Amino acid sequence: MATYQCPICGASTPADRPIWRCRCGGHLNLEPGRGLSRDEIDSGEANLWRYRAALALSGPPRISLGEGWTPLVRRQWAGVAVHFKLESQMPTGSFKDRGTAVMLNHLLEFGVGAIHEDSSGNAGSSIATYAAAAGLPCRIYVPTDAPRGKIVQIAASGAEVHAIAGTRQAVADAALAASGESFYASHNWQPYFIEGTKTLAYELWEQLGFAVPDNILVPTGYGSNILGLERGFEELQLRGEINRRPRLFAVQAANCAALAAAWAAGVNHRVPFTPEPTVADGIATLKPVRMREVMMALRRSRGGVVAVPEAEIAPALIALGRLGLFVEPTAATGAAACSRLINDGTIRADAATVVVLTGHGLKATDKIAELLAPTE
Ligand SMILES: [Zn+2]
Repeated sequence: MATYQCPICGASTPADRPIWRCRCGGHLNLEPGRGLSRDEIDSGEANLWRYRAALALSGPPRISLGEGWTPLVRRQWAGVAVHFKLESQMPTGSFKDRGTAVMLNHLLEFGVGAIHEDSSGNAGSSIATYAAAAGLPCRIYVPTDAPRGKIVQIAASGAEVHAIAGTRQAVADAALAASGESFYASHNWQPYFIEGTKTLAYELWEQLGFAVPDNILVPTGYGSNILGLERGFEELQLRGEINRRPRLFAVQAANCAALAAAWAAGVNHRVPFTPEPTVADGIATLKPVRMREVMMALRRSRGGVVAVPEAEIAPALIALGRLGLFVEPTAATGAAACSRLINDGTIRADAATVVVLTGHGLKATDKIAELLAPTE
């Protein structure tokens, strides 16, 4: 039985029922997992369940759409060989499926009923899709300006779509207010989501021939991939399978960059900043729930935060497209950041570098059409 730990009040709680936060109101974390050794990988599973031995679940998955084991392809980028991790090729077209699949399987083990969630789009489509696969009623709160493709995807799964006007935070507040009506299956709060995203670390390690990359760049809003990567590589190190860790770089759009503002101020807490609109809607986060932990993970890894100017996002998206990598603008920030780090010497040509492409281009064709043929 896994145990939740609250970093705010220090309480420990067995993970034996559907909860999403501590009684004190703080977020919960899972205690470190046992990891796995390479001979425990179930290589017959061409999905993340090949790492089931490392997951804090009591039995085999009740639902799966074959998530995980996404391609890792090597391409030249800014004159350097870079590995692109195509999380865009998940069942719902974004990396969220790792977290959703593991979180929902945990909740199903303990009899969850109707669920709801708030999302800028990708987590909403992922949760709605897996809820449909599990036969759970589902309601998703989205910003009114979320990309149409994502809202259509949520509606097609049979989930109720609640569009909320205002900021991304207003959407989160609406979902919080509904937490008495159904279970708040929040990818930003429930720690089993990070239990799922940690399989990204296992997968990169295995796909690189059981080697640790030097640098991993991840478009980052709330930071579930950063925390999942830290958790996965930490477990592999504790298990003795690896002896070093990658540098982790959180990539943000400079127009809305909570982590970058804190990084620039040399602190781990939220500092005031003025958000501007960005085409990278998936990472326009004002108040990351696990802000301090994400900042600490970046510092421990000796990585950092890269804030990508708005003008660099479209050229990166177009250049990726010319390489056969069709991604949404949020994902293109990772490649734009990679150019910056190559050009300033942070990433050396002989380093093993991974850029995580978090979401598919078909998610955001309306925005991409504007980037390809600007009307102004
Ligand atoms: Zn607490």
